[in-house]
Amino acid sequence: MNRRQLLQSLAVAPVAASFSTGRGDAGPRQAASPVAAASAGVAERVIVISLDGVRTQEMFGGLDPTILQHVLGPKTKVQDHPLYKTFWRGTREARREALMPFLWGTFLTQHGSIVGDHVAGSVMRLGNTHRFSYPGYAELMTGAPHDAVIDSNDNRRYPFETVLQFLRREFGATREQVACFGSWDVFTSIASSTDDGVYTNAGYQAYDVPDAGMRALSAAQFDTVPSWDTARYDHYTWQFAMDHLVRHQPRALWIGLDETDDWSHNKAYVRVIEYLHRFDGWLAKLWQLIEATPAFNGKTALMLVTDHGRGNTTADWQSHGKDVEGAQYVWAAVAAPNWPTRGVWRAGHPPASQSQVAATVAALVGKDWRRASPGAGAPLMPPV
Ligand SMILES: [Zn+2]
Repeated sequence: MNRRQLLQSLAVAPVAASFSTGRGDAGPRQAASPVAAASAGVAERVIVISLDGVRTQEMFGGLDPTILQHVLGPKTKVQDHPLYKTFWRGTREARREALMPFLWGTFLTQHGSIVGDHVAGSVMRLGNTHRFSYPGYAELMTGAPHDAVIDSNDNRRYPFETVLQFLRREFGATREQVACFGSWDVFTSIASSTDDGVYTNAGYQAYDVPDAGMRALSAAQFDTVPSWDTARYDHYTWQFAMDHLVRHQPRALWIGLDETDDWSHNKAYVRVIEYLHRFDGWLAKLWQLIEATPAFNGKTALMLVTDHGRGNTTADWQSHGKDVEGAQYVWAAVAAPNWPTRGVWRAGHPPASQSQVAATVAALVGKDWRRASPGAGAPLMPPV
């Protein structure tokens, strides 16, 4: 498949000129950096994808038939449901591979590793005590909990610099080269402590580019309204982010996806499982794009994270918050040039913290976030 076919398969318009333009003042540094970056194992760019409120149970064990039976009710046998027929396997390893075949079959066997599988003895926890979205994303992006200040999901900025702002400054990058796309409208505030800190496109916001296909997609988001009013469907966010990735070659790109949280709150477990499978396909296409693009291949780090967990039981799996047991547990996957481990982090490492993600994002592109923010957690370091 050539690049044009790849982009068409992603429904992203080819932007032929973008590989030689639009780099702004980071151009000369980029031009000089590939050899140095490759030899040091440091990427030139980092992409972070956050999936909202995805439990460790599904991430590491795939379909949970107890939850499925609960949402189906007593009149339907779980074994008769198409979801069960598609995704049930006899072991948790086989179930997670059936649910997310690219993540488990390629991403984590050839390129990266994942922390947070309790059954394997690996734990990752929130540092914040709120266990809901804004405190979680703020901790992810700043490297520290801010429990006393960030205690709601209100769409407002807080005076804490994010790692995205830091990276833009470090790279001397244009606004477009450090970008955050979010389905949830609050990402317009989460990504930066200042109005002009980084490029954001979140919630129901037009994506204004010359390409006719993208303009049609941007218009369609206002006519397809899901059940929660503050977040558009992830399809739009993803496609806009893919277009931006090709168009601007950002040094740092955060893609904040949301549907897993909304479907869960709606107790739509079937949708949650279907979504994770669909997302795995998007991830596979993104990886294909990275490998097919010389400017990205071997020079791009990719991280997957979640902002909080959810409850453990049939009574609270859909929920999260400070009193919900289980919502404090999260996970994170990293793939990068020369990343040292593959698969699930083995037992024996100290519990990882969500506060370590910001410094990890910076370290993946050779930057030290704790120099700017000394209180932040240290970069994640898988046991080898
Ligand atoms: Zn959330």
